[in-house]
Amino acid sequence: MALRKIITLPDPVLRRKAKPITKFDKELQTLIDDMVDTMRDAPGVGLAAPQINELQQLAVIEYAEDEDEEPKDGEEIKPKPKKLFVVINPEIIKASEEKVMGIEGCLSIPGLIGEVERYEALTIKALNRHGKPIKFKVDGWLARIFQHEIDHLNGVVFTDLATRVWQPTSEDEIPLD
Ligand code: ZN
Repeated sequence: MALRKIITLPDPVLRRKAKPITKFDKELQTLIDDMVDTMRDAPGVGLAAPQINELQQLAVIEYAEDEDEEPKDGEEIKPKPKKLFVVINPEIIKASEEKVMGIEGCLSIPGLIGEVERYEALTIKALNRHGKPIKFKVDGWLARIFQHEIDHLNGVVFTDLATRVWQPTSEDEIPLD
């Protein structure tokens, strides 16, 4: 296990576009494993390679999908298990018409959170860690995290898009990515 240093604004690397990945070698597998370790250690729900000073189109995300329905009376609320996603050269190929407001924070922008409008649901096309094409749908918070990470691969951070930004108080419990 190796932890990588998470860079923060105003580091100019966070403003650059990441390059597509074409080699799925051992070095890439190590980078992916280090990113998962670094994300879990932070702790965060997502991490994009530029955040650890690697300008490559790679992001890791670990989050439980949103609950679909309210629990019935007397029924125990069982949290859905967390799911780990590794996406390489990701592209949003379809987005919902519906957009939703939500509060975001970022491991690369400590001490600030902000309100950002995002698509409610997405279809994403990417390569997995072995270079195999994958396509899947996400919605809710997971869709928000994917949009946040894909922005990082394009040199965009949430404060660029936020309608307002503020310093969190102890009441604001925002997952960071
Ligand atoms: Zn971020």
